[in-house]
Amino acid sequence: MKTVKLKMKLKSSKFVINSIRSEEGTPVLPPVGMYDEPTMQGPIVREFMKEYKSRSKRLADVVDEILAELETKQSVAFNAKKYVFLVDTDEVISLVDRVKNAISKIFFSGATKYKQGKFWTDIFLKKASKAGERDALQSAKSVTTASGAGLALASGIRGEDGDVTLEHEKGRALRTGLAGGRVFESMKGITDTLKVELANTLSRGIQEGKGVQEIAAEIQDRINVSGSRAMRIARTEVNQAYRAAGRAETTRLNKEVYANTDFELRMLWFSALAATTRPTHARRHGRIYTMEEVEAFYSKDANAINCLCNQTQVLYNKKTKQVVQKDLQQKMQKQKTEYFKDLPEEEGLI
Ligand SMILES: [Zn+2]
Repeated sequence: MKTVKLKMKLKSSKFVINSIRSEEGTPVLPPVGMYDEPTMQGPIVREFMKEYKSRSKRLADVVDEILAELETKQSVAFNAKKYVFLVDTDEVISLVDRVKNAISKIFFSGATKYKQGKFWTDIFLKKASKAGERDALQSAKSVTTASGAGLALASGIRGEDGDVTLEHEKGRALRTGLAGGRVFESMKGITDTLKVELANTLSRGIQEGKGVQEIAAEIQDRINVSGSRAMRIARTEVNQAYRAAGRAETTRLNKEVYANTDFELRMLWFSALAATTRPTHARRHGRIYTMEEVEAFYSKDANAINCLCNQTQVLYNKKTKQVVQKDLQQKMQKQKTEYFKDLPEEEGLI
């Protein structure tokens, strides 16, 4: 019952997105149909996972080969439910080693250390990073209108072409390098676990006299579980790369374009408002934060894990302490009220 309700809510939210534009300039917002992916990085997450799955498939093929060999050494015991494998300990250890080596080779091509730009996940982080910078600049241009910010600032930001200084370039390299290293370590964690699980499944299966078919099914099951762990990494890191790049670009623009004016860029929180959204994240929908506040949020607890939220640029008037795109904020506030309507009191709007 609850699930049905939430699904309907998502549907109506997607409808509302059509109308959230600002009279004062609209930043980059997710289009209809991608409302539950506010960073719009779903396609990149799916590309990442497609690559992970194709590697998993290669692993499954190696396992199939090994199991086919094992099958030639399998004979039916006293009842048809148990099998006896004509193998000794050394042979079992060798089979397990082959599986472990295949995992290392398929997921890491033998690399034991992270080298920037060399790991297969780097391309996805890079794409998300680029998109984050591009969208931040685009949003800044859209929200900085002549009527809201004056002609000088409006034409100043329009002259920005995204060319960055050496210092910014270094920051970008450091950011993507750290993210890449983190993904590498996470992937190592996933595959190390998978090695242990497949080794256990294989040796226990042989020992307990399970048939090759049953062992194969159990192994596939473990590979699938590793896929859902990889999905969490992909989603967390791709979204994080997008948001971090957006913040870096916003900081740069505030420093290089908005300094010495009455205005600066601030971040408007955009939550997926999905069935799985944490209330602490959903409550931020439509609120305005400084860069430091956003960073503080993501640096604590497990806030970055699986977070689909986005923060987009709006124009803030430092003198009046008002956001120029106030109408947008009000529309998002309405979405949030709608979202929280059916939640229990203690999770409701604060
Ligand atoms: Zn979130």
